[in-house]
Amino acid sequence: SDARLSDYERLSVLGHGNGGTVYKARHRRSAQPLALKIFAPGDPSAAREAEILKLVADAPHVVRLHAVIPSSATAAAAGEAPAALALELMPGGSLAGLLRRLGRPMGEHPIAAVARQVLLGLEALHALRVVHRDLKPSNLLLGAGGDVKIADFGAGKVLRRRLDPCASYVGTAAYMSPERFDPEAYSGDYDPYAADVWSLGVAILELCLGHFPLLPEGQRPDWAALMCAICFGDAPEPPAAASEEFRDFVARCLEKKAGRRASVAELLEHPFVAEKDAAAAKQALAALVAEAEEQTDP
Ligand code: ATP
Ligand code: MG
Repeated sequence: SDARLSDYERLSVLGHGNGGTVYKARHRRSAQPLALKIFAPGDPSAAREAEILKLVADAPHVVRLHAVIPSSATAAAAGEAPAALALELMPGGSLAGLLRRLGRPMGEHPIAAVARQVLLGLEALHALRVVHRDLKPSNLLLGAGGDVKIADFGAGKVLRRRLDPCASYVGTAAYMSPERFDPEAYSGDYDPYAADVWSLGVAILELCLGHFPLLPEGQRPDWAALMCAICFGDAPEPPAAASEEFRDFVARCLEKKAGRRASVAELLEHPFVAEKDAAAAKQALAALVAEAEEQTDP
């Protein structure tokens, strides 16, 4: 009754990550299109991602898990980490891919659609005591009609106690908050969930600038340069032409002291992501996805 890799036909590569490869695939019997994430043998993120995706199965704006695929029936019986996960296929790819295909920064309307939906996803995740710890454009995926979902829980963590520290160096250093580099200097009132808010701020600033915002364009993101920029540099800002609402929203995410940073609930009340503008913002994002598709397959 367990799912097997041979149940799926691999069609093309959707993306490569640290751990493994994600394929566009089809379930042979049902012909259902899926994304198949295959892990390298022994990858510790495989079990973590499967566990978290099961826990958050009904959360909005989170990629759905269809099946956990063990490497063999005996491995499954022994409780070994899965070899692969069958995931909901997100037809628009990632926001990193969208930015690359567009070849220019995104406007504030589509960015507001991203921000609002990621916040709704984070609200649900945090209510289940899950921190993502690796939010970035390549882990935010696009569905139809400007839908956005959070993916890649390989660095995620379920907090057993509310204030479980999670300063450990998992995820992508570039999007890590100051308190995760140096908990004592930056946290104030320590809040493990605030790290995801920082990463969201860096990610949406990247969408608006068209490049990673914390280092000069083109500089190699090595560990030392990143740590200096994140912990000792001024928090980066949107361009001067940006709206006051957008500037304030980003500033609330990129508060260096975790204790002063806005919470997800506060940000959901922010005028930049107002509910009354949500439908128009999603339409603007859907239009960008369509434009990027035309540029790749004429
Ligand atoms: P990394 O270590 O680089 O963060 P990873 O190995 O953990 O990556 P994912 O982030 O889950 O893997 O996926 C890598 C890429 O594959 C994504 O950036 C995206 O482009 C593509 N991808 C992943 N899941 C899906 C999906 N469900 N639908 C469509 N594309 C996907
Ligand atoms: Mg990823």
